[in-house]
Amino acid sequence: MAGNIEWQPSRTLTEFRLLPGLTTPETSIDAINLSTPLALKADGRSALTLQAPVLAAAMQSVSGSKMAIALAKQGGTAVVFCSQSIESQAEMVTRVKSYKAGFVEPRTIAPDLTIRELDTLRREAGFSTFPVVDAHDHLLGLITRRDYSALAHGDLTVKERMIPRAQLDVGVNVSDLEEANSLLIEGHRAVLPIVDTEDRLLSLVFRKDIEDHLDNPDQIVDARKRLIAAAAINTHDYVDRVPSLIEAGVDVLSIDSSDGFSSYQRETIRWIRDRYPEIPIIAGNVITGPGFEYLATSGAGAVKVGMGGGSICITQEQKGTGRGLASAILDVVAARDAYAAKTGTHVPVIADGGIVNSKDAVVALALGADAVMMGRYFARMDESPTAKLQINGRTMKPYWGEGSARAREWSPARYRHASFLEGVEGFVEYAGKLHDNLPQFLSKVKAAMASCGCATIRELHERAGLELVSGLSIREGKAHDILQFGGDRDSLSSWSI
Ligand code: IMP
Repeated sequence: MAGNIEWQPSRTLTEFRLLPGLTTPETSIDAINLSTPLALKADGRSALTLQAPVLAAAMQSVSGSKMAIALAKQGGTAVVFCSQSIESQAEMVTRVKSYKAGFVEPRTIAPDLTIRELDTLRREAGFSTFPVVDAHDHLLGLITRRDYSALAHGDLTVKERMIPRAQLDVGVNVSDLEEANSLLIEGHRAVLPIVDTEDRLLSLVFRKDIEDHLDNPDQIVDARKRLIAAAAINTHDYVDRVPSLIEAGVDVLSIDSSDGFSSYQRETIRWIRDRYPEIPIIAGNVITGPGFEYLATSGAGAVKVGMGGGSICITQEQKGTGRGLASAILDVVAARDAYAAKTGTHVPVIADGGIVNSKDAVVALALGADAVMMGRYFARMDESPTAKLQINGRTMKPYWGEGSARAREWSPARYRHASFLEGVEGFVEYAGKLHDNLPQFLSKVKAAMASCGCATIRELHERAGLELVSGLSIREGKAHDILQFGGDRDSLSSWSI
């Protein structure tokens, strides 16, 4: 007989509902604080902190540098995927670390370009302000959509229509956004070219970007005000990969594996700890208390929880291993709390795989997770690395698992012993920009916390009430017994029963 049989069925997040607690002014939506520890730092006590408890999954179809920048600006973090060459992953991390909020690397043009050519370029590039430079990058002028008419000036050159250098306000070697902002306001301009002392163009600062920056008070940055970058690693090539990522400026490493309860993870953690004691390490994934304890005692600064629940995951079907995410969180969190009682150290737990919406996220947090990781949710956004497609009149984006055939194409040699797949490939509905989606997601999490009378995630861990629900009550919790309007008022097919 098996050594251990668990007779209680495994539970998913969908099977739980939150029970309201007393809401007071201290726990109203505006008072809710979503900051949460991401991973312990070297001292084993303080942690790198997120302002929003969300991570984008370390997947090819989710987390490149664009997602990492956009999510860090909103207080979360995207884990740059490791199923790519070390060089290209390090380059992505460099891009995140060298991103200067508000300072844009400009697309320059030559003065003898015709206005017709410029207009084509403008359409292709999708923006309309172009600095004009000579062969040595000296600033000659600036031209925007308002400075020409494509019809009337098509045959003229850019030089003839641009605002010449003499009429431009510039910032010399300005690297501080506040200073750039005051120059912009003084000059009544929408854009400020930044040049060096030789008048060579360095960057552009747009007024609208500064406003965007000021609108993101939650962005997570390092001591030098650079955005935080997280990157995935594996237990195979870490000896080469980790030094390159550290060199690129990575702030946190995450060991990527569907089954993290392994001596390979312990070896990887210890190797990193010995050489780079300051770097926080996320390990996982595990789904049991002993799995958590093994990684925590190995030196993990956070542990990811979940196996088999991801939207693209077929691990349970293929190997028969896995667990409902709610049961996995409960077991791991009990071990995490026992570990904290013994050592005084709270090791953050990240719930991962199968989290579809804010309701799932807040249940995962209430069960004890410190943050949630999502793949499908972020794959739908503009900032994921994939291109939009039209399928049957719907705008979609491709999404594929890291264990799918497509993900393994980057290195066939690496997977030559992997005889079966653990992930599938498909499409998800396009959802627009991250900053048009995530704030609403987070405000629903806040609203739920307010209902529970909990102002922080820590309070949610301690005080939330949860209840298992029946299949019938799940049905009752949705709109029911009405003819429901589904979006397009002119179409009968948009009504559903
Ligand atoms: P989702 O948010 O439900 O789409 O799940 C994303 C999570 O699924 C990731 O963070 C990984 O933990 C996991 N995952 C990614 N690729 C695969 C795969 O190919 N097979 C199984 N699990 C995967």
